[in-house]
Amino acid sequence: MTYPTQPTASHFIGGRYVEDTDGTPIDVIYPATGAVIGKVHSATPAIIEQALASARGAQAAWAAMTGTERGRILRRAADIMRERNHELSVLETYDTGKPYQETSVVDATSGADALEYFGGMAATLTGEHIQLGEDWIYTRREALGVCVGIGAWNYPTQIASWKGAPALACGNTMVFKPSETTPLCALKVAEILHEAGAPAGVYNVIQGLGDVGAALVSHPDVDKVSLTGSVPTGRKVYAAAAAGIKHVTMELGGKSPMIVFEDAEIENAVSGAILGNFYSSGQVCSNGTRVFVHTDIKEAFLTRLSERLATAVIGDPQDPETSFGPMVSARQMEIVQSYIAKGVAEGARLVYGGKRLDRDGYYLEPTVFADVTDDMTIAREEIFGPVMAVLDFEDEADVMARANDTEFGLAAGVFTRDLSRAHRVAAGFEAGTCYINTYNDAPVEAPFGGSKQSGVGRENSKAAIHHYSQLKSVYVRMGDVEAPF
Ligand code: NDP
Repeated sequence: MTYPTQPTASHFIGGRYVEDTDGTPIDVIYPATGAVIGKVHSATPAIIEQALASARGAQAAWAAMTGTERGRILRRAADIMRERNHELSVLETYDTGKPYQETSVVDATSGADALEYFGGMAATLTGEHIQLGEDWIYTRREALGVCVGIGAWNYPTQIASWKGAPALACGNTMVFKPSETTPLCALKVAEILHEAGAPAGVYNVIQGLGDVGAALVSHPDVDKVSLTGSVPTGRKVYAAAAAGIKHVTMELGGKSPMIVFEDAEIENAVSGAILGNFYSSGQVCSNGTRVFVHTDIKEAFLTRLSERLATAVIGDPQDPETSFGPMVSARQMEIVQSYIAKGVAEGARLVYGGKRLDRDGYYLEPTVFADVTDDMTIAREEIFGPVMAVLDFEDEADVMARANDTEFGLAAGVFTRDLSRAHRVAAGFEAGTCYINTYNDAPVEAPFGGSKQSGVGRENSKAAIHHYSQLKSVYVRMGDVEAPF
């Protein structure tokens, strides 16, 4: 199979594609067919050293440019990304299996948003002046140095851009390692940044499995690590980064609650539940997979949900009419199938779907369980697939306690027409990102990240700047220096 804009080698280092066939081969598999559509090689130790040396070598000169100059390059990259949205979206669909209907409006476009937003912000980054009588202090907002980005497989273009844009705006350089499941898209981000004028070495991409990520995280020449991945991987990466006292951002998993009160506008609540469970075939970290529905409206909600799910167009993800695609890999499909089996075995009521589709590729039906209880496995563990658990409730205080009774704290949502209740519930959620009468929006202007086990730090918005820069205080004495002897 051929596909457009195919990267020409495994790694992008020092402003060009680099290959080292000594690295373990990694097949690139198209999830819609299971066909091998490409091959990359995992980074060898020599490639890891080359990438980090390239990033280190470029960092001082990149940081010495004015913010306006750096920002101009990022904004130019945003423009190129938008111009090439079609081909990047096709590639994203080959990498992940997500429908073109989604990738054409979410992936390269949100990557471009981040490049534009942080490109615009680069020139505004300043320290402050603090007067102390006649003396004074000024602060300099400085880059951290070399940042490592490690990505999950669900949003490869977006993750590579969300980490790269603020890092580069602040004057850092980056080595990014995509998930080995989706190795292609980050290479295009590197290529576009270089074409936009980023000097060689400013943004590098190397391939590999977890061992390459681990080697990057523990490397002494790395100043910051930003991971998007699961909580177990986050624990390992955080610990390894701590050993080197490195800065970290951890964007990890979730098991987020969505509460639908009896006064909710049902059609919108169903839309929110669909967006929060079945977009990207459910492979979204912030998904609201525990849907608490008030018993008064539960059957109406389930009926309407089933009717709407029946209109999903499941098929070839490159067809713009397709609205629901395959799982990213055979492994992920099997994990999700095992959760569906557990749901049935533990007594949840299967309301919709539940089966693998009889066709090539890793297709599962959108799946809904009702009568789920808090102790069931499907209500406690992150499934990362198209499986919605609907739980009953009657009382606000009770449902809030149950919603927060989880180690995760990434996102949470509430559907109600009661204004006071909406804000009371949002304030009570133990989660980094909350939604009132909507679900799963992630604009670059808003901080995004988790509390509890779901993460450390924030991506996007002005907040990301604090996680990719550090303050230096400079004391200035205008008079004589007094000393005790
Ligand atoms: P994983 O945690 O399995 O992997 C994430 C990345 O870390 C991959 O690139 C992986 O490499 C790498 N990695 C694995 N082990 C190590 C290690 N010891 N040291 C350094 N790097 C390592 O996550 P998935 O790719 O399976 O993605 C799904 C998870 O990501 C879900 O839990 C989901 O919730 C979370 N996620 C969180 C988001 C957020 O913003 N909060 C957004 C999207 C997803 P490789 O894959 O090659 O093994």
